[in-house]
Amino acid sequence: MNVLVINCGSSSLKYQVINSDTEEVLAKGLCERIGLDGRLVYQKAGCGKEITEADMPTHKQAIQMVLDALVNPKTGALKSLGEIDAVGHRLVHGGEKFACSAVLNDEVLQAVEECCDLAPLHNPANLIGVRACQELMPDVPMVGVFDTAFHQTMPEKAYLYGIDYDYYEKYKVRKYGFHGTSHSYVSKRAAELVGKPYEELKTIVCHLGNGASICAVKNGKSVDTSMGLTPLEGLIMGTRSGDIDPGAMEYLAKKENIDLEGVMAILNKKSGVQGLSHISSDFRDLEAAAAKDDKGGIRALETYIYRVAKYVGAYVAAMNGVDVICFTAGVGENGPDTRKGVCSYLGYLGVKLDDAANQVRGEEKVISAPDSKVTVLCLPTNEELAIARETVALTGK
Ligand code: AMP
Repeated sequence: MNVLVINCGSSSLKYQVINSDTEEVLAKGLCERIGLDGRLVYQKAGCGKEITEADMPTHKQAIQMVLDALVNPKTGALKSLGEIDAVGHRLVHGGEKFACSAVLNDEVLQAVEECCDLAPLHNPANLIGVRACQELMPDVPMVGVFDTAFHQTMPEKAYLYGIDYDYYEKYKVRKYGFHGTSHSYVSKRAAELVGKPYEELKTIVCHLGNGASICAVKNGKSVDTSMGLTPLEGLIMGTRSGDIDPGAMEYLAKKENIDLEGVMAILNKKSGVQGLSHISSDFRDLEAAAAKDDKGGIRALETYIYRVAKYVGAYVAAMNGVDVICFTAGVGENGPDTRKGVCSYLGYLGVKLDDAANQVRGEEKVISAPDSKVTVLCLPTNEELAIARETVALTGK
């Protein structure tokens, strides 16, 4: 069957059509600047990218353009829209309501709506995408796959914050974690690659992209992860600070004479390796700068790597050991220097990197030496494929 996978943000939308039998991507692309001037990127498998600048004032119009491109008689990947059997939507926050993916009926959508408070930037945009697809394809089943769902197996001691328990009971203030679809996909694939049962393995997945998080997966279940109530907690990211003393927020607000919103804007958009380096949030720029002895580039990379290594250590403690460490997402898949830097802190675990193997970019590969006590993998994530699989599992005949 063919699954249309949609990842809808507030002004952009990524899509893929995946044949779930062969797991081939038939077409993919994105809509950008929705509500502004509009730009559609469309790419059929084996063909070049087509770029169309066109007005797309609403998400519904953007999705209509995607559907038109998919059935375009010349370059379309499908003969008719009847060939789309189901739609899988990436949904960011499922709160405590969703420990797994769900078919999107009215009741489920109401529950997703109720999670908007927890992710005011993401869930409303995701829901706009769902509603637009429902209007354009009323008879096609839709499935929601939540970024938070995989982490619902975390024990209470891992997800509670050290604050008055009333705030958990009243407002559900706790750690939820994100990138769950990626952590689940990568940890399962890691078990296949090392040829051991998923249910018997202790794995640490380092999802190091523009957003970054680490997950401890014990016996097939997420037992801890670095992002929290929001994606701001944990690792240092492209522009997000990650962990910071909450007291620093008050101090900063007073010194800069800004309100909470101003502080949050700093922590989300002007921090991370961008803020540390004053160069860029992109690791390619940072590595180029560091190679020229630029202090900002070196400072950002060293601080970033140190934080990742500290979290790995914490999760080894949480699981009382580790069998496999995986590096995934933009930096994890393409950054030999970052992987090497993190592993340089892990000698006490018996981690030994194979320097030649570690030169790999964007491919599944064992990058540890044969006598390493822990297997280290470069393992590209594939959230779209994971969403398509979930969609088929819930809607397939
Ligand atoms: P993602 O959010 O997973 O798409 O990751 C995006 C980030 O990956 C970019 O901002 C870069 O910092 C990083 N990245 C992509 N390609 C490379 C590369 N060849 N070397 C180092 N970092 C890379």
